[in-house]
Amino acid sequence: MHTGLTHTLDLDRNGKTSGYFGIPFSIDRSPYFQVKVPICLIRNGEGPSLLLMAGNHGDEYEGELSLAKLIRRLDPKQIKGRVTILPMANAPAVMAAKRCSPLDGGNLNRAFPGDPLGTPTSRLANFLETELFPRHDVIFDIHSGGTSMEHLPTALVERNTDPDRQGRGVELMRALGMPYGFVADNGRASPTSMGAARRAGAIGVSGEFGGGGTATVDTMAIAARAIDSLMITLGVVEAPVLAPESKPSAPTRLLSLSRHSQGLYATRRGWFEPAVRLGDGVAAGQLAGWYHDLERLDLAEEALHFAESGIVLSRRLHTMCEAGDCLLQVAEPVEG
Ligand SMILES: [Zn+2]
Repeated sequence: MHTGLTHTLDLDRNGKTSGYFGIPFSIDRSPYFQVKVPICLIRNGEGPSLLLMAGNHGDEYEGELSLAKLIRRLDPKQIKGRVTILPMANAPAVMAAKRCSPLDGGNLNRAFPGDPLGTPTSRLANFLETELFPRHDVIFDIHSGGTSMEHLPTALVERNTDPDRQGRGVELMRALGMPYGFVADNGRASPTSMGAARRAGAIGVSGEFGGGGTATVDTMAIAARAIDSLMITLGVVEAPVLAPESKPSAPTRLLSLSRHSQGLYATRRGWFEPAVRLGDGVAAGQLAGWYHDLERLDLAEEALHFAESGIVLSRRLHTMCEAGDCLLQVAEPVEG
């Protein structure tokens, strides 16, 4: 079948194989150009199978750097089963330090299930969902807030109507050892990697590790622990590979983000000054910040208030905003 994506790799081979997927895309500079997406396949016989993916959005670095390290460090003899690593899934976006691909504007995490005749991003999504994901028990897709946003380190799984799969998903999410966790309700048709994982028969696990288009000591440590812990929990490896074993200071605290009123949105152009920090506990009605209009210096800044109580989960980092930009999100702590 023509999938709009070519490669010469044996996806089921034992040992360690590094190579590329090629997505033909003729451009001015290069008529026979192919988008090259690096992949590393590591297999040692039968056993659990894990796909690790980063660079779904190009400007989210904890996963990209950690998985690049893992490619160099992981030896097939160390593992049982299969580890597949996509360190920069939307490679053009990674190379441009952008969320979306500059070639086609594609947001890979909104492109599933994709189209074999579509844009490069759409063809990649289609190949991942129909060819690569179904070869794996678990898909771990590593995100962060990206250039424009900072985000509390938060693991994520999609709610599944199958109680066994739901239970296993939450168990794996907790195994990551992250401070916070979500069960998202995006439904079976979700255009995200987690929706694709579910349709492909795999358990999808994801997480936001930081943001700001950077990597920090703390967010890299959380990412390393999450990747190591997941591999150990699945039985792919017996000992940590990326970092010495470290215990999280507390169990993962579950959060819920299910209502639009949990987000504070700009409704016009302006400049936002926050009154809270990421991770702060806030109450409905509490001051969230001030909205300035630098084009109207005669106008007082407007006080903005939270509509809902909870924990400040994410914050827009770019001070200048347009109508529709999400300034802050508040998540509700839940039991379980
Ligand atoms: Zn992302």
